[in-house]
Amino acid sequence: MAYDKNNIFAKILRGEIPCNKIYENEHTFAFHDVNPQTPIHALVIPKGEYISMIDFSENASETEISSLFKTVTKVARELGVENNGYRILSNIGDDANQEVKHLHIHIFGGCNVGAMICRR
Ligand code: 5GP
Repeated sequence: MAYDKNNIFAKILRGEIPCNKIYENEHTFAFHDVNPQTPIHALVIPKGEYISMIDFSENASETEISSLFKTVTKVARELGVENNGYRILSNIGDDANQEVKHLHIHIFGGCNVGAMICRR
């Protein structure tokens, strides 16, 4: 599958659609989810064109990889969820219901986020 340059997060990175930005640096960008599932629900993405964690781990540079994870920790701290704890999650592909095909790490917090997986 090729990276789709018109996915919604690519448009956010290009400034073509608005977002509630939290933080950015050379390699990463963080913003609030438009449809929060918990009181704190942020998304951290690489600026590079990576579809998912598979693509990212195989093709991103060591600098991009370390930057993404450092940004997750930094953003969680800035959002005030570090002390009580939070969950990070990244959906990969169809069975995980990945909606946006640009790698993103969710940060859920601000409450007890419940069981690890909700089976239906
Ligand atoms: P996924 O299911 O792909 O892991 O998660 C995609 C997430 O992107 C969802 O939580 C959804 O609410 C969020 N999202 C989709 N479109 C937009 C948007 O235009 N702006 C923001 N801030 N979040 C979005």
